[in-house]
Amino acid sequence: MFRKAASVTLVLLLGACVTQAPVFDAGTPCKTASFTVVDGFGGARRGRCEVVAADHVRLSIRPEDAGYINPSPWYSFQLDPFEATTAVISLHYTNHKHRYIPKISTDSLSWSALDEKNVQVSDDGSLATIIVPLGTDAVWVSAQELVMPAIYEVWTSHTAERTDAELELLGYSMAEQPIRYLVSNPSAKDVLFLVGRQHPPEVSGAFGFFSFTETLLANTEVARRFRTQFQIIAIPLLNPDGVLDGNWRHNRGSTDLNRDWGVFKQPETRMVGELLDRLDAEGKRIRVFLDFHSTDRNVFYTQDETVPTDPPNFFERWFSRAAPRLSDYAFTNDAGPGENPVVGKNYMYRRYGVPSATYEVGDETDREAARQAAAVFAEELMGLMLETLAESR
Ligand SMILES: [Zn+2]
Repeated sequence: MFRKAASVTLVLLLGACVTQAPVFDAGTPCKTASFTVVDGFGGARRGRCEVVAADHVRLSIRPEDAGYINPSPWYSFQLDPFEATTAVISLHYTNHKHRYIPKISTDSLSWSALDEKNVQVSDDGSLATIIVPLGTDAVWVSAQELVMPAIYEVWTSHTAERTDAELELLGYSMAEQPIRYLVSNPSAKDVLFLVGRQHPPEVSGAFGFFSFTETLLANTEVARRFRTQFQIIAIPLLNPDGVLDGNWRHNRGSTDLNRDWGVFKQPETRMVGELLDRLDAEGKRIRVFLDFHSTDRNVFYTQDETVPTDPPNFFERWFSRAAPRLSDYAFTNDAGPGENPVVGKNYMYRRYGVPSATYEVGDETDREAARQAAAVFAEELMGLMLETLAESR
């Protein structure tokens, strides 16, 4: 009799424990007793949110679509507290592994990396548990800083105002966001062509792009001289829809833009192709192409000796000029034949035969170091391009 009563009590207790935890789909504010997990802002990606306890939620972090995708598991959400607490967030990745150290901000403009003692990753990488102290203010938690299309709008117009560059409209993305570019000295025949942010999560590359372009347009002796000889075309944000959607890789058309060059099925890449056609028709000549990205380290993907560039040995010369000035910025040069013709740098090499590189900045490279290094690379690139132009005349 005693035994039976005990088992009935146990059943009742278990029944209470297995009450379904509240679950909120992506796009719906996810409320615990202590805070709300919000994903209603540009760049957000939170996925399904399951309330485990008053201070604990479990998020299902998934990519934008089912197509092939690189492992760039972007997440971004806001914790809006009802009371001071310590939030425990479990990031659960389906078929992917945790990659980005969480970045924290209370204004979505200035960011710091979450202390590594507050991040625990499972052995197989599929689960990361992060601890975020919350006071009274909302806190953004994001795979990388939120560098959204609105920030590019400010940066491009500000840069055009304070330099000799003009701001031009390339056209509109699939979701009808403007894609702009800066152009300096459009009458010059020889062109340096830069592209950025084909891949939404690759924010460290964006910091490189900003600094590189600012250095090209600066009021320094070498930059002024460079701009008398060369035209600069700089497209900072080729995939604004993917950035706004918080995508891991694709544009609104479920396509990796850096696998669409020459194919030009997507509006964003097609407009670049049309700009190149116009430049060709005007008798302009692309001399160097750089495409800014992020990966796990600082690296330049370039042509190797099996695919000679005009001028030859350009990258060897560029990097040997820059390296002595970059003692605290480790980088490598992975050179290869560049066989995939639909990648931007390979397409540009095949079309023009000129040095064409993917400029990769490490995911967690210190942002100021990335900016300073980009300035050095830009200065040495200008010096080298001026030299090679003089040699060719
Ligand atoms: Zn990339």
